[in-house]
Amino acid sequence: MDAKTRLDRDALVDSFDRVASDLRVSVTDRCHFRCRYCMPPEGLPWLPKDQVLSFEEITRITGILVECGVRSLKVTGGEPLVRRDVASLVRMLRGLGDDLDISITTNGFLLAQNAAELRDAGLDRVTVSCDSLIKHRFKEMTLRDALDEVLEGLRVSAELGLTPVKINTVVLRDTNEDEVANFAQLARDTGYEVRFIEYMPLDAQDDWSAQGVVPGAEILERIGEAFELVPDTDDQPEPSTPFRFADGAPGRVGIIPSVTQPFCDSCNRLRLTADGALRACLFALEETDLRGPLRDGASDDDITELAKACVAAKWSGHRIGKADFIKPSRSMSMIGG
Ligand code: SAM
Repeated sequence: MDAKTRLDRDALVDSFDRVASDLRVSVTDRCHFRCRYCMPPEGLPWLPKDQVLSFEEITRITGILVECGVRSLKVTGGEPLVRRDVASLVRMLRGLGDDLDISITTNGFLLAQNAAELRDAGLDRVTVSCDSLIKHRFKEMTLRDALDEVLEGLRVSAELGLTPVKINTVVLRDTNEDEVANFAQLARDTGYEVRFIEYMPLDAQDDWSAQGVVPGAEILERIGEAFELVPDTDDQPEPSTPFRFADGAPGRVGIIPSVTQPFCDSCNRLRLTADGALRACLFALEETDLRGPLRDGASDDDITELAKACVAAKWSGHRIGKADFIKPSRSMSMIGG
């Protein structure tokens, strides 16, 4: 069977005609940051090592999904760079296709020392999470005094061409919303793209409340008071429209308004957890175990069928803020953000 026939037959399509083409691959549930909207100070019960997929297992599953039309791979966690030798995994994933877009989402702490090896292994670009540009506030929000290392990771990545360098900033009410224009200034100064994320009910502690969410519209208004923005639509499909600066300054800003303006209708994402479960939605209440079948000798066709069934059952959208919303049993760091 040629690649095209197989791709058409095995495309990962759900019952609303959305096609899954973007895979987030979690390589660990562990992290050395304790972002207060993500996990408690004491951490979480980590997965036993034997339950975590090996790089070979990740590559085999990813290869099957690539044959089904996945084109974009994001290595994530937990914190992906706490797992030893992630560059080897990137090299193995790159072997699945030169045309794949391969990126990593990291807290940035170990990035400066790993960026060159990751690039040489075939990484295209990085996304770094950073919620404050104020040293003491960064420490309060993450419980790690690590702003300098994160900024250095960003700088080194840009220098090495791991671009566009993106920053993910979760905006919390009464915490860091006063910094959004400063982040926009950073984008202008450096050419980074800063994406502001609405706080989602995916924290392990169950502290989320609607009052903690700063709506994307308010974030844009705050930035707009400092800099005129123009929608920048020359782009791949994104969860939100990125904006450039009207005066031609470099960099961009964007909003990921998962709570106030969910982008479920155009969602093309799929997630593979560190322990080998496939999830068609971040908020899914059900997931498909691929590790068990894989270790029991399942064929590529068996795994394809499981993946197709998982995607086919994807629901129309999440129900955050609605009376019938049910929080998934795994939190963000356990799923893979
Ligand atoms: N450790 C990596 C990092 O820091 O980017 C990857 C995993 S982290 C779970 C992925 C993203 O999820 C980060 O940008 C983080 O800020 C975001 N995140 C975690 N909990 C969240 C929540 N409750 N609401 C919104 N975003 C969240």
